[in-house]
Amino acid sequence: MNRIEQARQYTEQLKNKTPEEVIAFFLQHFGQKIGFATSMGAEDQVLTDMICSIDKSTNIFTLDTGRLFPETYQLIEETCKKYDIKINIFFPDYEKVEKMVREKGINLFYHSVENRELCCNIRKKDPLKRAFKDLDAWICGLRRDQSITRLNNQLVEWDEQNGLFKINPLIDWTEEQVWKYIKENKIPYNELHDKGFPSIGCQPCTRAILPGEDIRAGRWWWEQPEKRECGLHNRPVK
Ligand code: SF4
Repeated sequence: MNRIEQARQYTEQLKNKTPEEVIAFFLQHFGQKIGFATSMGAEDQVLTDMICSIDKSTNIFTLDTGRLFPETYQLIEETCKKYDIKINIFFPDYEKVEKMVREKGINLFYHSVENRELCCNIRKKDPLKRAFKDLDAWICGLRRDQSITRLNNQLVEWDEQNGLFKINPLIDWTEEQVWKYIKENKIPYNELHDKGFPSIGCQPCTRAILPGEDIRAGRWWWEQPEKRECGLHNRPVK
């Protein structure tokens, strides 16, 4: 069986399980070879809570692009303290960042999709590749109704780009379910969520949204909706 078929089989096998059951299954199945990539967003805070209730020694990591909101750094601190865990933080290669900024400017991402993708590659994709080294699978907080770019995502996917299984335990959850879980379990969350930011990334590339706008409308808002992925979730193989 190839990896794509294997991912489909996992999805079929686990489709009626709760997110906690899915997480417990894969933590046990992959052992040290699975990691959780958190962006510190609301969904990821739910997953951190679930993972810590199962196995606090799980490899939980995040990316510091150097352009995050102060509130996000505050949340990293608060989360580590609440769960008594260490979140592994990966940084971009400073030489690549310096070259990019020298050649294209500090806010290059506003000038073209190409520039924005270059910045996302250097500040996010490259560090993520280092974080993925030695892993066979990663856990991710994608939900299907977050964006038109995520409608086809599945519970388990073969992530061809990174050569890993990608596990999306909250794939079928609604935004309401996420917030109900956060409130009921008193989970720390980014205070920007209360100020009109449903999806939080880098400071210059995230804005608050208006009532009724798509929940990812505040990310790279100057681009067309179908382009608005940072490259971390592009082209999943179902
Ligand atoms: Fe750069 Fe914006 Fe991508 Fe962050 S989200 S890595 S600042 S282009």
